Amino acid sequence: MDVYEKLSHPLALAVFCPLNGRTAIPLAFRSRNVEACSGQRTTSIRRKPMTGGRMLRVGAMVTATLSGVAGLAVVAVPTASSQDESRTLLAIFAHPDDETSVGPLLARYAREGVTVHLAIATDGQKGVREHAGVPAGEKLATKRAGEARCACEALGIEPPILIGLEDGAMEEEANKAAFVQEVTRLFAELKPDVVITWGPDGLSGHTDHRIVSSIVTEVYQDTETAPGQLYYVGFATESVAKLTQMLEAQGRGMPLAMRTVRERYLPVRIAYEEQDGEANARSLACHESQYTAEEMAAVSGLGKVLQRQAVTLRPWFVESDPITELFE
Ligand SMILES: [Zn+2]
Repeated sequence: MDVYEKLSHPLALAVFCPLNGRTAIPLAFRSRNVEACSGQRTTSIRRKPMTGGRMLRVGAMVTATLSGVAGLAVVAVPTASSQDESRTLLAIFAHPDDETSVGPLLARYAREGVTVHLAIATDGQKGVREHAGVPAGEKLATKRAGEARCACEALGIEPPILIGLEDGAMEEEANKAAFVQEVTRLFAELKPDVVITWGPDGLSGHTDHRIVSSIVTEVYQDTETAPGQLYYVGFATESVAKLTQMLEAQGRGMPLAMRTVRERYLPVRIAYEEQDGEANARSLACHESQYTAEEMAAVSGLGKVLQRQAVTLRPWFVESDPITELFE
């Protein structure tokens, strides 16, 4: 991750997105090892036993809808009390800290009884920041793995699944092939009801982000028993534009152009509670190798100002009747 990526990182989005005032980012790990937030390492992916009570039928959320905010549909997520099976959500991103873009959502569902996993494609070994004083390479990868575990613990989700591919090198054929295998394995072993990843924009346009989105979609669309639904996280063009104007009026500016999505293509809006936003702030603080104290404060401060407690997504695919004409 270079400076460009860092400036356009979801963390920055969290700061600037009027929809949710939050950030997020991805993970990374060595295949077949699932590391616990507690620091423990296990050798297999386990499924959390059914806890009963507040299980959610996440896949049904999209159809359950409701009120609009800023022209977007607000999905009312039922706090199910009679679900007879555990639900699993799998978020897949490119770097440790990408998860902050959907952090409050992850915290919310984990709090409500959903088994929430975070898989990180790369090891983040190139995410060098001067303030951290950690050189690129294995030392930084180790540091960031610890930060990912800390972030998961803060969010209340399962330990991160650190796939451990080389940071900034997802375009390499060997890494793409390895990632296809890992995503396939995760779908088979975790059997997620919901998968969340980057959209084709990759949020910041980072190549690692784009390839993660592409491969997760590729595997999803050709999996016989695919997860219940695949969602792309997105930030509304209109909302980001308004925030940009607001910042410019204050003599500030957006640090970088972001790849945003028109509101009409973001029909899923998942509200969360203050405690979920706070959990995300704590998870953000885990990524100390990536952000200075000032940057952390800026993110948190803007988030409070924005107070738009929702994460916006869009489903990759919506079932419909067969379409036989391109032009109506
Ligand atoms: Zn990233």
